[in-house]
Amino acid sequence: PGSLYVLATPIGNLADITARGLAALTAADVVCAEDTRVTGQLLKAYGLHAPKLVSLREHNERAMAEQVIGWLREGLIVVQVSDAGTPAISDPGARLVEAVRAADLPVCPLPGASAVVTALSASGLTAPSFLFHGFLPPKSGERRRTLAQWRQTEYSVVCYEAPHRILDTLQDIVAELGPERRLFIARELTKTFETLRTLPAGEMLAFVTDDANQQRGEFVLVIDAAPPVPQDEGPSAEALHVLATLAAELP
Ligand code: SAM
Repeated sequence: PGSLYVLATPIGNLADITARGLAALTAADVVCAEDTRVTGQLLKAYGLHAPKLVSLREHNERAMAEQVIGWLREGLIVVQVSDAGTPAISDPGARLVEAVRAADLPVCPLPGASAVVTALSASGLTAPSFLFHGFLPPKSGERRRTLAQWRQTEYSVVCYEAPHRILDTLQDIVAELGPERRLFIARELTKTFETLRTLPAGEMLAFVTDDANQQRGEFVLVIDAAPPVPQDEGPSAEALHVLATLAAELP
């Protein structure tokens, strides 16, 4: 049979494609893209032409999986890409891979760019673990409930955010996690107007509010782990009082 190659593509700078990625695209019989125009530009930039370029999106992923399984059984090389970065990371791809592997056909990952790891590498945040949340809920109520879970987290929390929601999200972060919580924003990674900034949430909100340019483009938002809770000095007076009362009742 053929193989399904799951290929990470650049998140901005087209030079970030890998050598293995170019070899796979050169050998591909079929390229499954999200937006075929976006992938068409990548192919064009490298003088490549896919014999067959098809669109795979969330709504047709199951149907396309059956197609792809058929192609693989015919011995074809199928390369799956998304518009930018690594497939299946806040992007389609997981269902396709699940179906192909369930059919006992080969899947080969070709690693490369992903905004989550690129942002973290430049964040300077030192928590040893991170939690990747992806996109926050678009509605404020649900978003605030999601944020509230991270008041005490020991993880750096990585979120993707859309430009038209960045201000609302920063407001919700200040409300739920307080103005002092450290945030890191990576905007337009690998592109001309790449901006990296670390600030307490309150100052980040002011910075983005005051400069309309900071509200444009693509964003990764990282919420720093919560500062450690100060160790208290033994049980509280109230706890001691409760213990004394209970002890008095014991035989
Ligand atoms: N699969 C991609 C990956 O591996 O990173 C993510 C796809 S998701 C639909 C798109 C989101 O990723 C954007 O809204 C933004 O939050 C983030 N992103 C993608 N490229 C970026 C870039 N160059 N700079 C900052 N964030 C980026």
